[in-house]
Amino acid sequence: MPVYFEFAELPCRQHFVCDRLRATLSTDACGDRWKAAGVATANARWITCKNCRIGARHAGAINANPSPFRAVKICARCHLTASRLIAKHLCISCYNRQREQVVGKNAKGTRPVKLAPLHRRSISYVTGGTLKSMTVERSLDAMELIVAVLRDEACSVQFGWQAQPGARALQQIWETGG
Ligand SMILES: [Zn+2]
Repeated sequence: MPVYFEFAELPCRQHFVCDRLRATLSTDACGDRWKAAGVATANARWITCKNCRIGARHAGAINANPSPFRAVKICARCHLTASRLIAKHLCISCYNRQREQVVGKNAKGTRPVKLAPLHRRSISYVTGGTLKSMTVERSLDAMELIVAVLRDEACSVQFGWQAQPGARALQQIWETGG
């Protein structure tokens, strides 16, 4: 926790010494920097403030997603940063490999072999006090969905694993007292 103080000439504005920036900042300026750093198009000079919990608190975002993936243009499948994401999800290379698998041939006209089969997957998670789920029609693995959620959600995320339908029915019986 930083130590807060006021300047006589700036009453009612809390200041503190920021360790990351090695500078004295007002809490307002700190929160503004944190907000500016949290968007995908953020200027590189804001990078120090990205994912800073103190900045998040000063911006009033107590429950902000602290993941380093947050608002980064990262491909959910290969985890590389991309200049642009197709459908806000995949890099151009992964999108092209997927397309080749869907149509059954690559640019050379031969059968694609590089990409493992893609399957429909869902993931459930809690964020901002709400239960959400995400389904990707063609995904490589569960990690692809986890990376996408961490990248795209503004609030911190807790993942849950959806039980088999049989186990869910059993749980409902317990919860309702039989
Ligand atoms: Zn990719």
